[in-house]
Amino acid sequence: MNHEIQELMELDKKHFLHPTSPVQQQQQDGPGFIFTKGEGVFLEDIQGRRVIDGMSSLWNVNIGHGREEMGEVAKEQMSTLAFSSCFATYSNEPAIRLAAKLAEVAPGHLSATFFTSGGSESNDTAYKLARHYWILKGQPEKKKIVTRTKSYHGVAMGATSATGLKPFRDFTNSLAPDFHYVDHFSPDALREFIETEGADSIAAFVAEPVQGAGGVHIAPETYFKEVRAICDQYDILFITDEVITGFGRTGTYFGIEHYGVVPDMMCFAKGVTSGYAQLGGVMISDQVHQAFKDHSTGTLLHGYTYSGHATACRVALKNLEIIEREQLIDNAKEMGEELLAGFQKLQSKHNLIGEVRALGLMGAVEIVKDQQTNERFATPLAPLVVTEAAKRGLVLRSVVFDGQDTLVFAPPLTINKEEIEQMMTILSETFSAIVPSEKTNA
Ligand code: PMP
Repeated sequence: MNHEIQELMELDKKHFLHPTSPVQQQQQDGPGFIFTKGEGVFLEDIQGRRVIDGMSSLWNVNIGHGREEMGEVAKEQMSTLAFSSCFATYSNEPAIRLAAKLAEVAPGHLSATFFTSGGSESNDTAYKLARHYWILKGQPEKKKIVTRTKSYHGVAMGATSATGLKPFRDFTNSLAPDFHYVDHFSPDALREFIETEGADSIAAFVAEPVQGAGGVHIAPETYFKEVRAICDQYDILFITDEVITGFGRTGTYFGIEHYGVVPDMMCFAKGVTSGYAQLGGVMISDQVHQAFKDHSTGTLLHGYTYSGHATACRVALKNLEIIEREQLIDNAKEMGEELLAGFQKLQSKHNLIGEVRALGLMGAVEIVKDQQTNERFATPLAPLVVTEAAKRGLVLRSVVFDGQDTLVFAPPLTINKEEIEQMMTILSETFSAIVPSEKTNA
């Protein structure tokens, strides 16, 4: 390892507190990869190692890496007007055009957007706007936010409190009040909760169309129709968190389209810019917007400095243009089928593989000790698979919450058949190389 790399490793350990990271491992080993370059589905690190980005980095680089035209529009926008405030009644053209474009592509009557800088801010915004809506409607006691077990909504205080995955909440010892969790696949659990607590205390129900960080859990076909009907029956706002599932990831523009229902609010981030700039937002329905128009006599007292950031919005517009021009949503659907077929083939070859699933380019592989009984290893094997796959050129992620032992996948929407085959070859070699240890078997 040359001197420059060694220096970077030391500086990383000393000065860079990584997000969602094993601190002691970082201190011991330094950064696993120092990436320097990206091209399509590939990433390259400072040592010249080339790997497939099987996670689109953080489920977000939908159009793939290294797009020059993204850099060009960012440069053009930054050289003309990088940023100007959108507070009060100030505006800028990219923000206006993006809000209009989103209204065009979003399902149903979702027609107005509040911009943020990412998914966590979008979720906190949605909870506040939902509660504000009920204040405006003269029902300020409607404030509980109901979310689901296994959900992930981010790390801001509201988003952490809404997150069903307990380890994220246990990281801190004081959370925002009025968040509640119900079983992630059961409309009955939602109905029961509402009947016990009283609909007049509940502002909104929040769900990811496909649970991502919780392990790529795909809801039963009728789940969201029933949920929509329950929310209508009890006058509760239905909010979808499309931070991962938005912008083509599942083979439709937005994940909820698979279920044929329309939410009252929709959080988005990640794929709106494919990571080329930081941007998120919340779309609201005509009905919610109307309440704001009818009753807001004062100021909408919620706004981030970067709400409507001109450069980020311009980058998002170009990103959406690329997604449409290259028909990446159709590709995600088609390649999603290839991905699932690849998983199934692997499953027949490797007895460590249990259930496999995918919706578009969002997939998961369960690791089991016994394919027949679905018995799990005492110590999850998925983290070892991730380490071994990375050595062989494939970046993945493991999910081990709640007794899970799961590998999750979300490659760029640009991926082709050959690249999926390459992923499968690496996975197959990885599984062949892994021998569960005594400890894992205990
Ligand atoms: N919601 C969902 C469904 C997510 O997957 C994520 C991030 N993985 C977030 C919210 C939080 O987004 P961010 O990290 O941009 O704050």
